[in-house]
Amino acid sequence: MRWIFLGPPGAGKGTQAARLAERAGVPQISTGDMLRAAVRAGTPLGLEAKRYMDAGQLVPDDVTIAIVRERLAQDDCRRGFLLDGFPRTVPQAEGLAGVLAELGVGLDGVLYFDVPDEVVVERLSGRRICPECQATYHVRFDPPREAGRCDRCGAALVQRHDDKEETVRERLAVYRRQTEPLVDYYRRAGLLKRVAADRPIDEVEAEIRRLTGVA
Ligand code: ADP
Ligand code: AMP
Repeated sequence: MRWIFLGPPGAGKGTQAARLAERAGVPQISTGDMLRAAVRAGTPLGLEAKRYMDAGQLVPDDVTIAIVRERLAQDDCRRGFLLDGFPRTVPQAEGLAGVLAELGVGLDGVLYFDVPDEVVVERLSGRRICPECQATYHVRFDPPREAGRCDRCGAALVQRHDDKEETVRERLAVYRRQTEPLVDYYRRAGLLKRVAADRPIDEVEAEIRRLTGVA
């Protein structure tokens, strides 16, 4: 079970990866979550990454490829993994191919979350995350049971710095320029499966389970 979740920021990749990972018993590997953890921990990597993340830019390829190489070598990835938010550039995709070759494994496929820009903006502006356990909510589309509190751990929910409107516009432009070319890249490799992600969360989940064969 080795899949990439590809698509614009706010498409629902993290929401669906968390659900599928739990069901399939494989780790969800989110480079965004790992980078935010490094920022919180104040490591040299976190300090470097923060500048790019706050500006809505991508962190340099060598940094993210190194993080993923180290993570995929861990034992819990042997049965598979869901890559959420990586790769985001053609050099990252090439780096990933090298890492997978080193591990002697291949990809099952790439799920492409197709959603219009207006939907992305609406989703990002209402997104709230738990700073403790990384659970994701939406004030309208996926609210916690108690407003502003995480269902899982009770922490106060926060808005991500990069979900502010100006940064969202920049992230969408970066997506078009640097990440969207991967749609063709993986289509040509015969790995791409499109998900109509502009539908309610449960419907998108059902389609993903059908496409990935997870019962
Ligand atoms: P990504 O990981 O692609 O950036 P998220 O999974 O964090 O996106 O989703 C962005 C926001 O949209 C979150 O607030 C999430 O709760 C909400 N969301 C996710 N999927 C849907 C959906 N199908 N319909 C409505 N809102 C959604
Ligand atoms: P995400 O949580 O996936 O929305 O990512 C948040 C931010 O982390 C992005 O805007 C980038 O600054 C950085 N980031 C996450 N994943 C990557 C990646 N694969 N390549 C470069 N930057 C990344």
